Amino acid sequence: MFTWKNTWKELADAGVKTAVAPIGSTEQHGTHLPLSTDTLITERIAEAIAEDLQAYLTPTIPIGQSAMWLEYPGSLSLSPDTLKAVMADMVESLVKSGFTTILFVSVHGGNEAVYRGFPEGLQKRYPGVTIFTAGYTVWVRETWVNIWRTALERAGLPELVHADEAETSLILSLRPELVGPHPTDCPLPKDRYPKGMTMRQTYPSGSMGHPSRATKEKGDQLWKELLPLILDDVRRQLREARQ
Ligand SMILES: [Zn+2]
Repeated sequence: MFTWKNTWKELADAGVKTAVAPIGSTEQHGTHLPLSTDTLITERIAEAIAEDLQAYLTPTIPIGQSAMWLEYPGSLSLSPDTLKAVMADMVESLVKSGFTTILFVSVHGGNEAVYRGFPEGLQKRYPGVTIFTAGYTVWVRETWVNIWRTALERAGLPELVHADEAETSLILSLRPELVGPHPTDCPLPKDRYPKGMTMRQTYPSGSMGHPSRATKEKGDQLWKELLPLILDDVRRQLREARQ
């Protein structure tokens, strides 16, 4: 794997033509997880993919679309147009310097610019270049839903929503030193986004679920189950894109 700590000469000599570009988010994650939670998970997945493909891991874009959480201090949000412009400029840079495969990675479901056809649309501008997204959120595309559902089930965890049991378990596994001592549960109401209520009124702590049930063991198991499924899916997408 290559990163921005390498020189351009090292990338050129190795003939690296594949870039993996993580796009994170900076948004509230309850009273116990850092604002950087989605960025940290995204980076770890992107790192594993870049390692697997012997690719260039670009620096992470640490801010995404998080408008729904702006009532909570520290959350930052880019508009869809801004995020798309950043992605388009990254692609332009990578293509001009010789990359032929560009893979965006994000686990933040709010990053619609990353998921809703925009990367595929960019590809039309650059014939011969493969551009796609590995978007490992639980709800955007059927294959990704299945990947998470399978891994969560095998780890004995419920659906991952936000700063809940599953996400907290994962951070306990990946970055335990960043998990605070005061997870505050907010049970999910039947209607997750009740009309006339703000997010902070509905989820005072910022958690959507039961982070107090999280354990490191469940997180370890989730990561162990998740990663092979993700790597298989990326290899499959690459094969299909190059056919
Ligand atoms: Zn998250």
